[in-house]
Amino acid sequence: MAYIEPAPIKDKDNPFESMMSRFHIAAQHLGLDDEVYNVLKSPVKQVITSLPVTMDDGSIRVFEGYRVIHSNILGPSKGGVRYDMDVNLDEVKALAAWMTWKCAVVDIPYGGAKGGIKCNPREMSAGEIERLTRSYTQAMYEIFGPDRDIPAPDMGTGPREMAWMMDQYSRSQGMTVNAVVTGKPLVLGGSLGRTEATGRGVMISTLAGMEKLRINPFKATCAIQGFGNVGSWAALLLEERGVTITAVSDLSGAYYNEEGINIAEANTYRQENGGHLEGFEGAEKIDPDELLLLDVDVLVPAAIEDVITKENADKIKAKLIVEGANGPTSAKADAIINDKGIMAVPDILANAGGVTVSYFEWVQNRLGYKWTAERVNRRSDRIMRDAFNKVYKASQEYNVSLRIAAYIVAIDKVAKTYKYRGGF
Ligand code: NAD
Repeated sequence: MAYIEPAPIKDKDNPFESMMSRFHIAAQHLGLDDEVYNVLKSPVKQVITSLPVTMDDGSIRVFEGYRVIHSNILGPSKGGVRYDMDVNLDEVKALAAWMTWKCAVVDIPYGGAKGGIKCNPREMSAGEIERLTRSYTQAMYEIFGPDRDIPAPDMGTGPREMAWMMDQYSRSQGMTVNAVVTGKPLVLGGSLGRTEATGRGVMISTLAGMEKLRINPFKATCAIQGFGNVGSWAALLLEERGVTITAVSDLSGAYYNEEGINIAEANTYRQENGGHLEGFEGAEKIDPDELLLLDVDVLVPAAIEDVITKENADKIKAKLIVEGANGPTSAKADAIINDKGIMAVPDILANAGGVTVSYFEWVQNRLGYKWTAERVNRRSDRIMRDAFNKVYKASQEYNVSLRIAAYIVAIDKVAKTYKYRGGF
């Protein structure tokens, strides 16, 4: 593998630094001009707004809301809105850039953005969250727009908040504009297939990786960290294609069954038991840290960031890692994984099935037409497979890991668009 001096990384691994260090390496491989490098390093627009909201007890609280547009050179910017106490400008900036690369790698005509409100939705009533969401949308009505910037759900938000955003934006325009947000309830123009889209893309990426490594799905074992939306769908769809899922985990612990966990049963159990697997009898409980180190063919981290680190990377036995979560591998662990010859399908490729079907939702809204689930799945599967092949080809051409290859493909597309459009 070609060696390129990595950008300096500070002691603490954080997703922004991890992302920038990979951006830097890919940019060097591409021989990116300094001008374009500097443009892509900085977001196009950063908005911070104060949002006064009447609380249920009659008091008025002021919340801080953010929206960062990293790039809109390929088309309207796209990215979720996060409700969390840890939301801050630096994090939103990093996540916005991440969205630019993700959309570019799957070749959909979007730029990248991200938004957030510093709040704790678990301590707020539905009425308070609705007023906050409407206040945020009102503050952003000149930023948002189906041709400008299209929000979506992220941590702490879901179809309910998207419905309020769509309604509030539509009121400001005096007409129904459902293409302004994605991740809406089906009845408001949400897309069939969106719920399972990210897990489905993880399944497609896993099968594509297995094919390159000549692993037979019917003889393969897989461990999945995180049994929420992404992890549970990836597990179910991989199991349907013959893969034995020997371990899954969630916040309640990790569960192992050498013979394979029955994923449909685990799912039903989870849904009937408050969303977690505590007490599930179809597997034995193991140490959650052990899940990542199991002797399996495939490892799918699908929970949180920074779980594969320089401390544990050396002990991983899987031959293939498919990143369902955003940022599960710290930049410092990359070299260890590469040296061990493990193939890692990076987040910006592996979990891009979600944004791909969000794009289909926007397309359907603009057409005023609804696609069947089969059409959605067929088209997103093709996009995911094409993106995998393109990234794989770049990894061979530049002699780099799939992660750096994915950044190369994405940055190259955005940089070329800047070159053609010009106008600096
Ligand atoms: P989710 O909230 O539905 O599920 C998260 C799961 O991870 C839960 O089962 C939770 O119990 C588990 N979990 C949390 N911390 C854990 C830990 N320390 N160890 C083991 N399990 C843990 O979230 P999701 O939508 O499935 O998202 C998972 C990841 O995928 C996130 O990184 C998210 O950013 C990323 N992602 C999601 C989508 C999407 O469409 N949902 C798209 C792209 C990326």
